[in-house]
Amino acid sequence: MNEIDPMNLSAGPGSSENRHNGSGNLDHQGRAVAVDDASPAAERKVRLRFLGSGDNFGSEGRFQACIHVDAGATRFLLDCGASSLIAMKRAGISTAAIDVILISHLHGDHFGGIPFFILDAQLISRREVPLVIAGPPGLTQRVREAMEVFYPGSSAVERKFRIDYVELAEGESATIGGLTVFPVRVVHGSGAPSYALRVECAGTIIAYSGDTEWTDALRKVADGADLFICESYFFEKRMKNHLNYRTLMAHRAELGCKRLIITHMGEDILDRLGEIELEVAHDGMEVIL
Ligand SMILES: [Zn+2]
Ligand SMILES: [Zn+2]
Repeated sequence: MNEIDPMNLSAGPGSSENRHNGSGNLDHQGRAVAVDDASPAAERKVRLRFLGSGDNFGSEGRFQACIHVDAGATRFLLDCGASSLIAMKRAGISTAAIDVILISHLHGDHFGGIPFFILDAQLISRREVPLVIAGPPGLTQRVREAMEVFYPGSSAVERKFRIDYVELAEGESATIGGLTVFPVRVVHGSGAPSYALRVECAGTIIAYSGDTEWTDALRKVADGADLFICESYFFEKRMKNHLNYRTLMAHRAELGCKRLIITHMGEDILDRLGEIELEVAHDGMEVIL
């Protein structure tokens, strides 16, 4: 059981008191952020927004995998693909207003935005509070390598904020800030274990497939979830390591989630959206849980 509490490492930046002080929603450094919710802390719900719902190739101009979740006390990203900083800026979300980044697996369309996120936090949003980045084993080294490839010297530079890397052990719950994260191994080659993630926050369970072909692990991760976000890369084309809509539908009855939304869509399925009987994500789509 890993335990990292970013809330305890600073003067309560994510506390509801700080964030509801009568002057709108403020980020850690007092800047206005694009979360419009003036409800008291007790009534807060979990707000989820798809910042990127596309595949690795940006089909139809969609951004790569990135989902923003505002769970009140903790705000986090589920995946941070190479295009995610652009998607965040389009949505008016500052890198200073994210407590935790959760990564499903180490492919560029899921973690490649981290170097840009870190550099923006350092140079543009001027973050000062710790950032937690959690993902599969190998995450720490892969992020450092990516930073060095893109911006030599950037991984070792001194910053005003600390980064805590958490490498999640398969099948073991980790408590990260206000989140309980349960990683389940899926079938997807990425040079490291690839995970589906089950995240409990503010009494809500969000399950996320990451990238994978069909595996019974998805039943486990989706079971009882308030929302299951699942890859559906193709309509019916079969490809190793990935899931298509027809296969997902064939297993739909096995999924014990309350709500299911598909994402990570390529051109093949985007051309046939009229035939889809499930909820389909789009960039900017907001879901209240
Ligand atoms: Zn992948
Ligand atoms: Zn992907």
